[in-house]
Amino acid sequence: MNVSALQETDSSDRDVPLGFPVKNGKERAGSYDPMSLKISGLIEPGEASKVFLQKHFPGVSTDEWNDWKWQIRNSFTSLGQLSSIVELSGTEKQVLLSPGVHLPLRITPYYASLLSDPVNGYAIRKAVIPGVQELSLTPGEQTDPLNEEANTPVPHLVHRYPDRVLFLATGFCSAYCRYCTRTHMVAKEKVHFNRNWEPAIEYIRQHTEVRDVLISGGDPLTMPEKMLRNLLTELRSIAHVEIIRIGTKVPVVLPQRITNSLTRLLKQFHPLMISIHFTHPAELTPETAEACARLADAGIPLGSQTVLLKGINDDIDVMKKLMQGLLKIRVRPYYLYQCDPIPGSSHFRTPISKGIEIIQGLRGFTSGYAVPNYVIDTPGGGGKIPLLPEYFQGKENGNVILKNYEGKIFYYPDAE
Ligand SMILES: *Cc1c(COP(=O)(O)O)cnc(C)c1O
Repeated sequence: MNVSALQETDSSDRDVPLGFPVKNGKERAGSYDPMSLKISGLIEPGEASKVFLQKHFPGVSTDEWNDWKWQIRNSFTSLGQLSSIVELSGTEKQVLLSPGVHLPLRITPYYASLLSDPVNGYAIRKAVIPGVQELSLTPGEQTDPLNEEANTPVPHLVHRYPDRVLFLATGFCSAYCRYCTRTHMVAKEKVHFNRNWEPAIEYIRQHTEVRDVLISGGDPLTMPEKMLRNLLTELRSIAHVEIIRIGTKVPVVLPQRITNSLTRLLKQFHPLMISIHFTHPAELTPETAEACARLADAGIPLGSQTVLLKGINDDIDVMKKLMQGLLKIRVRPYYLYQCDPIPGSSHFRTPISKGIEIIQGLRGFTSGYAVPNYVIDTPGGGGKIPLLPEYFQGKENGNVILKNYEGKIFYYPDAE
């Protein structure tokens, strides 16, 4: 593949197989039928998006809607804009006008279209529209609960575990989740635009024990392709970096960003994996399914990360539907996180027993592939600690006592 052909361009019409019909100078409209993926250019709107587009953006063409930059430019960032698409309560309006809100509002028009869903709209809405509880601190809440500062040897880098680092490439996200663990750095102008990565790259070059680099932020897939390519090229030039991972929410809140041009760029840097932040089964739309199919077709293993959130997904059936739905779009559930105690997060946090109950409700009852690792990222910087239901019940006469998913007791003769 001619790499220079990829420079600067974000147009999606480059690898149309010969002989396929081209409409209006663009590739043929896509659907998420896997057989048509190779020829689809833009990610076409699903039914819900079409209805939303006609209602709230009359005069805007689907080509504009399908353009990820249009989605970013037209994101909802103020009370005035938001109140034109959803009915806000008195307290929601009050919060949006309050100077005490620590994280700005940002919702893409695409993601906003999901808020109107009569069944699931409420759950999704709570994740992105600030609630009044955001303004009140409760005991134990901190701005940097994971104490990432303490493990930051150079700007943009968190080195906590022996063989891998977290590279915080940007402070920008296309949507701000109200429970974001990095409220101390996301959406801060100085972090958005400070892309002096040299010290971080140099640190990785010097530390030969770093074999895994996880690029996160903010959302790295919101960066211009040129910037992303530069970063990936630098990292790939370091011989001891074996794998590169990207943490993103883009396929969920801005699936239009997963252009063929982006996937062609990403697949030049294998082995590369992507962890996608999913929250609720209502996010499993045709657009997101196609975005994930494109990434998977580029040979990128896809994992999910989900934060356990009260009133959103703290329910066995909702979580099972999400995990099974992820497998259908070729995403392997990876982590279920206990919600971090960031300031104003009390309305999101469930007791630990809820997470354990959910894992218990999945393990054995559905595909093992659909069961994520439930972890607490410990306040103070201890790292991720897995939590499991009590399957191991102790030892008796050389036998290990085990409880199965149905609650029945079994014995295993343990080796001496
Ligand atoms: C989560 C995390 C990682 C990656 O952890 P894995 O368990 O390998 O996915 C690396 N560094 C930091 C600081 C993290 O928080």
